[in-house]
Amino acid sequence: MKKSKFFVSVVVPCYNEAANIPLMVSELQKHLGTYSYEIILVDDGSSDPLQEVYEKLANKYDELRFIRFTRNFGHQAALQAGICHARGNAIITIDADLQQPPSLIPELIGKWGQGYMVVEAVPIYRESIGLFKKYSSYLYYWILNKISEYPVVKSANDYRLIDQKVANIIRQLPENHLYLRGLYAWMGFKKGFVKYHHLKRLHGKTHYPLHKMIKLALNGITSLSIKPLRLALFTGIFVSLIAFVIMGWALYLEYFTEKTIQGWTSTIISTVFLAGVQLIVLGIIGEYLGKLFMENKRRPNYIIAAKNISKKEDLKKKEKEAEVVAIN
Ligand code: UDP
Ligand code: MG
Repeated sequence: MKKSKFFVSVVVPCYNEAANIPLMVSELQKHLGTYSYEIILVDDGSSDPLQEVYEKLANKYDELRFIRFTRNFGHQAALQAGICHARGNAIITIDADLQQPPSLIPELIGKWGQGYMVVEAVPIYRESIGLFKKYSSYLYYWILNKISEYPVVKSANDYRLIDQKVANIIRQLPENHLYLRGLYAWMGFKKGFVKYHHLKRLHGKTHYPLHKMIKLALNGITSLSIKPLRLALFTGIFVSLIAFVIMGWALYLEYFTEKTIQGWTSTIISTVFLAGVQLIVLGIIGEYLGKLFMENKRRPNYIIAAKNISKKEDLKKKEKEAEVVAIN
């Protein structure tokens, strides 16, 4: 069969996904059949038998590559590693648990062919996720879009296609702690959209429990904007104004009337309220300061323990790629 002139890389972040990978890979192969492609499995420090599974598959299929981290560095780091190693003219990122159907790939590639540099697969949720996750996700993106100067796709969950030019920018970004969903919004490339029905996880449980969701959400907000800091400032000003009014009222009662303030309740309420506001403001500043501290160390986002993409092979592939005609 005649293969496509362009090369497609599919990046699959995997954390304890041994049970899902065989079917995932065969589904990908089914829908990538007409293209020249590679599948890059990024093992994000799994502790299940995933390694055995992909090593066997990699022996069998040339187009299967893997990157193994030394420990769990997180979903975003796995995506970043995959994108940095991908050699495709188009790079697709997709989860390993088949919640995002690989059958959508031809449609994503079709949109890319129309000139969109980023093609977002937009999920339609039915029963695939719990009500809490669904509505907290809607609320989060609503807040994020109020804060961000660039519109972030609602409920985007990292199933998308990017052009190699977009990937090159990600490879060159100096910052750590990438929040990819926000970065695509910031870059401002022309975006295409394809909708799909989000499915139930094939095997296992989500690896995004509440505390990881909160961490990702905070990272998202703080990496997109400094508006929360400004909000903290305005809250401070607003509360100080109220405090001034109360102070004036207290002084008036003290010096111009017979009544003196007995109010234990009002003292306690205002103290607790002000302490709360101060802690919130400090917390917001702390989030940014912590981020600055971590960024300042300039540690890499991930460490690779092993991979079957060698430098030499990279070069050979690059030569081959030179023959490949990109559609753009
Ligand atoms: N994942 C990862 N590292 C992590 C957590 C998740 O590489 O620390 C991968 C996971 O294997 C899956 C994708 O990221 O392929 C999305 O995770 P999951 O399906 O658990 O999240 P959900 O779909 O429930 O939001
Ligand atoms: Mg999932």
